Amino acid sequence: MTETIDAPAAVKPINHWIAGGSRAGTSGRTGPVFNPATGKQTGVVDFASVEEIDQAVQAAKRAFPAWRALSLARRAELFFAIRELVHERREEIAKILTSEHGKVLSDAMGEVTRGLEVIEFCCGLPSLLKGGMTEQASTGVDVYSIRQPLGVVTGITPFNFPAMVPMWMWAPALACGNTFVLKPSEKDPSASVYTAELLKEAGVPDGVFNVVHGDKVAVDALLEHPDIAAVSFVGSTPIARYVYETATRKGKRCQALGGAKNHMIVLPDADIDMAADAAVSAGYGSAGERCMAVSMIVAVGGVADRLVDAIKQRIPAVKVGDGMDASSEMGPLITREHRDKVAGYIDDGGGTVVVDGRETCPDEGFFLGATLIDDLKPGMRAYDDEIFGPVLGITRVGSYDEAIELVNENPYGNGTAIFTRDGGVARQFQMDVQAGMVGVNVPIPVPVAYYSFGGWKSSLFGDRHIYGPEGIDFYTRTKVVTERWPDPATSKVDLGFPQTR
Ligand code: NAD
Repeated sequence: MTETIDAPAAVKPINHWIAGGSRAGTSGRTGPVFNPATGKQTGVVDFASVEEIDQAVQAAKRAFPAWRALSLARRAELFFAIRELVHERREEIAKILTSEHGKVLSDAMGEVTRGLEVIEFCCGLPSLLKGGMTEQASTGVDVYSIRQPLGVVTGITPFNFPAMVPMWMWAPALACGNTFVLKPSEKDPSASVYTAELLKEAGVPDGVFNVVHGDKVAVDALLEHPDIAAVSFVGSTPIARYVYETATRKGKRCQALGGAKNHMIVLPDADIDMAADAAVSAGYGSAGERCMAVSMIVAVGGVADRLVDAIKQRIPAVKVGDGMDASSEMGPLITREHRDKVAGYIDDGGGTVVVDGRETCPDEGFFLGATLIDDLKPGMRAYDDEIFGPVLGITRVGSYDEAIELVNENPYGNGTAIFTRDGGVARQFQMDVQAGMVGVNVPIPVPVAYYSFGGWKSSLFGDRHIYGPEGIDFYTRTKVVTERWPDPATSKVDLGFPQTR
C-alpha cells in the first residue's frame, strides 16, 4: 500500500467557482486529492472560508432575480443545451470521475448516464412547473395555484457519485428557477468544477451555479447563512442528521439523505445462479462504495450453502485494477484510511471469512479485493456498520418472516431486494418491508428519473425524496391566488367571513 506526494508541479490546484469564473482560495486551508489507483496525490483543493462562502451566496443572490424571471421557454432551451453538452462530454466527465474516485470507466459512464436522465427529466420544466386552476370556485371567483422558486439553495454532496448526486440537486433546483451553491466532496471535487464550466458554455448566466470546496467550516457557513433557503445533503447518516437538525433549526427547508445497509433476501425457490450473479454485481460494483450496494445477503432456509458456494466461485473472476484499464471491473477505494478501515472488518468484524480480499489485490493504490463473510448476525460489527467497501456479508435465517424482521429492525431503510420466483411472496414483501426503494429480482433498485429517490428511517431526514416529482416539490413553494373581477357598482361593505356559496 503506497501513498506518495508528487513534486508540487505535478499537483493540480482545484479552485472555487464563483460568479461565473474560477476563484483561487484565500483561506490558506487546502486538502489533498489522490488518484486512488496509484496512491499518488494529483490535486490540491482550496477549502473555503466563511467569507468565501458568503461571496458565493451573494453571487447566487444577485443572479436570482433575472434567472427566476427568465421565461420557461428560454430556461427549457438552456436545459436542452446543457443536456447536449453533458452527453457530448460524458467521456471526459467519466475520466475525471475515474481519476479521482477510482471507479472503473464503464461504471463512471453509467454514473454520468443516470445523472443525464435527471437533466433530461428537467428539460420538461414547463410542464413540471404547471400549477392548478379552479374556475368559479365561488360566484365570479377563480382560484389558482402557482409554483415559485425558493431563492438561493445549496447542495452538499458525498464522494461516491461526484457527478450524478450533484445533478440530482442542481438540475431540478435550477429548472425550478433557483440559483445554486454546490459544496462537493473534498475528496473528488474536479467533476463539479468541470460541470460549472459546462453550464457556462451552455449559456447559464454567471452566478446561477457556484461551487465552493471545503470541509465542516464550509458546510457550517452554508447552514448558518441567512440567504440560503434550502439545503439538499447526501452523505453518511451522522452528518445527514447533523445537517438536517442545523438547517431546520435555522428555518431552512432540508432533505438530508444518509447511509445504508441494504439487505438482499434470497428465498429457497430463487434461481441460485441468478441470485449469485446479482449479489456479486451489486456487492462489489464500484468497490461497494454505492449507497444502494447490496451489503448483506439474507439466505433463507436451505439456500445458504449453495448460494455461498456460487458467490465464492464467481469472486476470482472479478478483475480488480486501475479503472482506466478497460479490462478492470472493480477499482480501488477512495482513500488509504478508508481502505484500511474496510479491511479491518475482515479480522474484527465477526462471522466466518470465506474470501479474504486482502490476498488478491494490487499492491499500489488503495485496493481491496472482493471479500465474503458468512454467518454474520446483528450485534457483530460487520453486520451493524455501513462498511462501504467490497465486503459482502451473509446471514442465515430459517424463514421469510425472520428475514423480513431483520430488514425491518435495521436502523437503515434505503434499498432492499428479494430474489424469488413466487410473485405472491414478492408482493407481500413490497407491502411489508420498511425501506424506501425495493427491488424484486432487481438488486440495485435506483428509481428512474421520473420517480424520486430516497430511503426511510436513518437513511433520510426530511419529508421529500430527491429528484423526480418530489425534487420539484422540494425546490418550489406554492402560492394560491383567489381572484375576482366584479362590477365595482356591486361593491359594498360586508364584515362577514368570506364564504364560498
Ligand atoms: P460524508 O458524510 O463523510 O460527507 C458528505 C459531505 O459532508 C461531504 O461534502 C463532506 O465534506 C461533508 N462533511 C463531512 N464531515 C462533515 C462534518 N463533520 N460536518 C459537516 N459536513 C461534513 O459522506 P462520504 O464519505 O462523502 O460519502 C459516503 C456516505 O454517503 C455513505 O454513508 C453513503 O451511504 C452515503 N450516501 C448516501 C446516498 C443516499 O442516497 N442515501 C447516496 C450516496 C452516498
